Amino acid sequence: MPCVRCAPLGRRGGGDGVIEIGNIRDYWDGEKMQLPEYAVYVGRRNNRRGLAASPLENRFPIGGWSFCDEVHRGTITREGAVKLFRAWLRGDIRGVRQLPVWDIAHRELARLRALHEKHGKLLLLCWCHPKPCHASVIAEVLEAGE
Ligand SMILES: [Zn+2]
Repeated sequence: MPCVRCAPLGRRGGGDGVIEIGNIRDYWDGEKMQLPEYAVYVGRRNNRRGLAASPLENRFPIGGWSFCDEVHRGTITREGAVKLFRAWLRGDIRGVRQLPVWDIAHRELARLRALHEKHGKLLLLCWCHPKPCHASVIAEVLEAGE
């Protein structure tokens, strides 16, 4: 098996190895979530649907206020939330790499990489699709093999 850090894990739209983004609503059977083995929920905690928070949840809520001058300042729009998440995940926000939650998020990325490798595909689920979503940043980072 090729090293998951070295092996390119496929490109979007390329068939095999594809990382897709979907809406978790489509996997609710009326009683519980029914997720395929290659699917991972990447959103926030949702008690109503029995979903635990993903370590890769977006910590920048739409409508929230960003205090980080380096990346963004003001009320967070959907696009802003995705942009902030990218900066957060890449460690571009000052001090973020020292946070335990950042480390845990990167361990989750490694788990997703292994899952992708195992199944040859990966489905990232949140509530946003088809609207812009932080899941696309996770896909980007995984596809770049970072
Ligand atoms: Zn989302």
